[in-house]
Amino acid sequence: QCGAVCPTGAIVVKDETDRAWAAINDPTKTVVVQVAPAVRVALGEEFGLPPGEIVTGKIVAALKRLGFDKVFDTSIAADLTVIEETNEFIKRLGSGERLPQFTSCCPGWVKFAEHNGADFLKNLSSCRSPQQMFGSLVKKYWAKDLGKKPEEIFVVSIMPCTAKKYEAALPHFTTEGVADVDLVLTTQELARMIREAGLVFDRLDVESFDTPFGFTTGAGVIFGATGGVAEAVLRAAHEFVTGQPIEQINFEAVRGFADRKEATVELDGQEIKVAVVHGLGNAKKLLAEIREGKADYHLIEVMACPGGCIGGAGQPIASDRETKRQRAKGIYNADKLSQIRKAQDNPMVAKFYERWLKEPNSSAAHEALHTTYTNRGRIAGEEIQLINGEQPKVE
Ligand code: SF4
Repeated sequence: QCGAVCPTGAIVVKDETDRAWAAINDPTKTVVVQVAPAVRVALGEEFGLPPGEIVTGKIVAALKRLGFDKVFDTSIAADLTVIEETNEFIKRLGSGERLPQFTSCCPGWVKFAEHNGADFLKNLSSCRSPQQMFGSLVKKYWAKDLGKKPEEIFVVSIMPCTAKKYEAALPHFTTEGVADVDLVLTTQELARMIREAGLVFDRLDVESFDTPFGFTTGAGVIFGATGGVAEAVLRAAHEFVTGQPIEQINFEAVRGFADRKEATVELDGQEIKVAVVHGLGNAKKLLAEIREGKADYHLIEVMACPGGCIGGAGQPIASDRETKRQRAKGIYNADKLSQIRKAQDNPMVAKFYERWLKEPNSSAAHEALHTTYTNRGRIAGEEIQLINGEQPKVE
């Protein structure tokens, strides 16, 4: 087996495309695939297209030709994450407890916190990542709609990320003992499958995602770039608290590649301080400042990879900033082009609540969409292999 290689050379990740082919060729399985936001602005690079070009429709067409039964968009689960996480945040603001709230959709950051930030674990949002929310809904609810058992549906994720492989294998992300996400392939692994199948990617006619997990908003797509989760939450928070539509939905202050970005926004008379960091070195610095009482925020977004998921270790190899800038531009262009740009306006997500989850933060929502964390401590002398190749020294 060949390996998908981390751009820094720190990690070699096993190639699992053979498992995808086996599932596709297994007549007992319905094979569904979800595509993460950051993949759509980077996969084209593997086929000679410029970084940042939005190739969503071609990806869908390619996946259908590879034999996947249904092609879905992880961004719809990101919309769900925004709704759950914003409601959780508003509750915490009300009680003043467990602040700052940290985002929890990046498994690289969550694992880092479990090893090095036991004192902050209670502050992490309890929301699962969009990948895991998607898998859980498919296995717990959608399978039933199809009259199938969880083991009869095989869920594949196309992710920019190698840490998502680890996340999908965690024992608590299961339904009736079956993994919610059966297989995670990186952007690079998908490119390999497309080549193996002999598809001429850049000449494919575009196709659209399937229902019910195919309708997305700009908010769900910007999860792919650093600052996107915080921005999507801010787009929702104002409306949830005041009941009034938000006028300015672009939060430029949290975009871009500065090591730490900050914004102060007013929420129904209260000043809310937001910070966004990307790269675990920057996260570590921020945790240290909070511990020393030198930093004070209400909401903090952390992404382990520099640039966020667009710079994930499973993406086409590119360590230069310009490529990442172009990918981020593609993400924000996709947001601009979206008819709906706020997660709370996603009509399909509203249907999920109506049919399956009742209301945000309900017990059904908690069971399907939330999680808990483990203090994994740090064993003395142990080297923690971080997903983006950084290895900050941790005392
Ligand atoms: Fe994965 Fe990196 Fe995105 Fe975190 S920031 S979810 S580690 S690609």
